[in-house]
Parts: sequence; structure tokens; C-alpha cells
Amino acid sequence: MLPRNLIDREIRFGAQNYAPLPVVLSHGRGAHLFDVEGRRYIDMMSAYSAASFGHLHPRLVAAMQRQLERLDIVSRAFHSDNLGAFYQDLAAITGLDACLVMNSGAEAVETAIKAARRFGYDELAIRADKAEIIVAAGNFHGRTTTIVGFSDDPESRRGFGPFAPGFAAAPFGDAEAIEELIGRHTAAVLVEPIQGEAGVIVPPKGYLASLRRICDRHGILLIFDEVQSGFGRTGRNFCFEHEDARPDGLIIGKALGGGLMPVSAFVARRSLMDVFSPGSHGSTFGGNPLAAAVGREAIALLRDENLAERSHVLGEVLLQALRAINHPAIVEVRGKGLWAGVELDASMVKAKDVCLALMRRGVLAKETHESVLRLAPPLVIAEDDLMEAVAAFRAALDDCAAPSERYAG
Ligand code: PLP
Repeated sequence: MLPRNLIDREIRFGAQNYAPLPVVLSHGRGAHLFDVEGRRYIDMMSAYSAASFGHLHPRLVAAMQRQLERLDIVSRAFHSDNLGAFYQDLAAITGLDACLVMNSGAEAVETAIKAARRFGYDELAIRADKAEIIVAAGNFHGRTTTIVGFSDDPESRRGFGPFAPGFAAAPFGDAEAIEELIGRHTAAVLVEPIQGEAGVIVPPKGYLASLRRICDRHGILLIFDEVQSGFGRTGRNFCFEHEDARPDGLIIGKALGGGLMPVSAFVARRSLMDVFSPGSHGSTFGGNPLAAAVGREAIALLRDENLAERSHVLGEVLLQALRAINHPAIVEVRGKGLWAGVELDASMVKAKDVCLALMRRGVLAKETHESVLRLAPPLVIAEDDLMEAVAAFRAALDDCAAPSERYAG
């Protein structure tokens, strides 16, 4: 079937909750994706970090296949023989004590919210149903009604209320503003260490460590959402490792599933995880043997291939190359590790048009908001591919200076 017909069928039978670039992918390997006509693209997006290990990494595929020959999904009604080892690996790599495995990132965020609230009532003597969690303005933590209720993105919220109470927002990057919001009902602070969807916003140095000190001073929980920033993306296994800021609870997902399946987790210190009792929380698919097999291999790969260090080194190369581009449409280049946000002057060029031009030049990336091009390639990307993508970006900026055909949505 022609690409146009494949797209039309998606539109005819699907919800229009995304505005994909007009490219129809059919296979991929490593940092490369191929469309139905065999054209090759450099993946500068990694499925929002879900494919941080590259597409179809042979070790991940083999681990999944090995598991598929033994046991599939049995639910948590029974024990399974690789779940404890998965927990142990997660605890070791995060430096925390205990895990609760879910599937999507949003579910793991919901898990953290439940844990924080119950901890607030059981351990911090917060009055029933009054617990409050402090979040950051501009946050993105997923799409459930509770989560979009504390987002400030109008299109994420419009028409989906009423929303759950119990959240207060402070400007991102301002630890003092968070401290000012702490009151007798505050159970936790929940933030992304770098805001991804907001445009790869890197907070001032010391922000994470300040949050750690503030939460300790007030005896409340610090929870980081590292669904996107985790697993080497920022040049460390987890972004909190850039500072002295180990959280009480950590939310991870995306890359944990190796790009093969949804696997997420809430990992926490023991006393926080112990708020959960049988029947208080769960998920039919959470922590299934297939997820445990893939998750364990993903953790092993991160370590064996030294991917956080690779992300650090190549990330410097990427940021330097982007900063060396001298183009009037570039307002700012920011990022950490293999995660860059290029802020564009929206009056000169739309980030969406740049993505379209990049696609024509064989590079796949996606904008966030109107004016930010987000670049987050698989951590296994070759340096030559990275440089080719940067050169394509430079050329795409020029393509967009001329009138260009725009894609809808
Ligand atoms: N938290 C963060 C920081 C994210 O970036 C995302 C997704 O982009 C989520 C949570 C939600 O993850 P999922 O789409 O798997 O529910």
C-alpha cells in the first residue's frame, strides 16, 4: 500500500490525538529507521527515550526471545522466578531499596502519588484527605486525569475536568519557591530533574541538591520523575546523580522496556514502599516475567556498554556542534548528555517545519511546543550519524527560511 493510503487509513480509523510527521516506518535497527519505501532515516528522537538502546538491540531481542520460550504473563497472583532478581537489579542501579513495577510512565507516576499520600497520612500525620504534593510549573508527567490536573498545558487539560485537588505548583528551577509552598499538609515534592516535554529545560546547577536539603529539613518526601531523563539520557545512569540528590522515590519507565515493551517502575526507600499492603495497588501486567526479562537485560546493557558515559561524551559533541551553528533563527541551545533542546525564533521559523525539512533530509525529530526542536538520539548512535543529523539540521533551517509546504496538525 502507498504511504499516503497507509496514513489515510490511520486517520480514518484512529483518534487524532497525535499529529505525526508524514512518514510511514516499517523497520529499524540501532539508530536507523526505514520507511515503507526503504528510505533510511537517522532516529534523533528514540521514541521519547523508549528506544534509548536503539531499535531491536540484539541482546534485548535475545533476552525477550529466551523468556518467550519459557513463560509469558502469569499475573502477580503468583510468584515468578525472575521478578525478585529484577527488583534487586533495579535497587542496585538506583541505590534505593524496593520496587513496584508497572507498565506506562503515567502509571508509575500514579503509583508515586499514591505512595506519597499514604506516607503523608501514615507517617507524617497529615489530616485525612488533605495531603498535598508540590510540583513544578511546566511539568509533564503523563496523561491520566489526576496527572493532567496538575499540568499547566491548556490542551492537555481542556475538557477533561473536574481534576483531583492536592497539588500546588512552583516555578521550575526555583527551590526557594518550592520551600515557600511547604505547609503542614505537604507530603512530597515531585519534579522532573530536567523538564523534557517543556523543551529540555535544564534547571540551575544545585537545584536538585537544594530540593534534597529542603525536603530533609521539612521531613517530606522528594520524588523525581526520571521516566525520560533516566537510563543514561543525561550522561549519568540517572539525572539525580549529577548532584548530591538521591530521592526517596524514583519514577522510571520508557528505556527500562528496552524499546520492546512498556515497563515502568516506582523505586523507593523501604519505609516509603512499605505503605503498600495487599490490595492497595496493582496492575495485571505490572512486573510480568517478560517485562522482568527485558528490564533486567536493559539494566545490564546500560552497565556493560557504558551507555551513560557514551551519552556524556557524545552529548558534549552534539551540544558543541549545535552551538557552533551560526543561524539567526537559533535563540538557545540547551541540554545535558544526548538530550538537546534548540529554542527557535518562532517568528522566523516553526519547529514543526524544521522537523518536516529534517525528515526530507533523512533525519527524524519532533518539536515540542511551537518553538523547540528536541533531539534525543539512541545512546548507541555513531558519532558520524550524529554529525550528519546536525548538518541536516543546519540545512533544514535554510530550507525553512524559504516558503515551505506545511503539514497539518
Ligand atoms: N513522565 C515523564 C517525565 C515523561 O516524559 C512521560 C512521557 O513522556 C511520562 C511521565 C509518561 O509516560 P508514558 O507516556 O509512558 O505514560
